[in-house]
Amino acid sequence: MSKSAYFMQECGTCGRNLRVRISYLGKQVVCQHCKSQFRATDSIDKGDSPVKPASAALKRADELLAAADAIKNRPR
Ligand SMILES: [Zn+2]
Repeated sequence: MSKSAYFMQECGTCGRNLRVRISYLGKQVVCQHCKSQFRATDSIDKGDSPVKPASAALKRADELLAAADAIKNRPR
């Protein structure tokens, strides 16, 4: 499990870009700037889509982690 996998998400309250751990996808996180709470979601999920089941978020996180590992382990 990589510890350095992040994605960028814009805070809905203060509008700043935050670095959120991929492992926090689908969970409540706190903006480090304005301390407001929001749900960590990948940017492609923006919009008025209904709440996804947690398993979908976990699957997405697994895909992102797999991609990060693939980049890290890529032979030169
Ligand atoms: Zn904020």
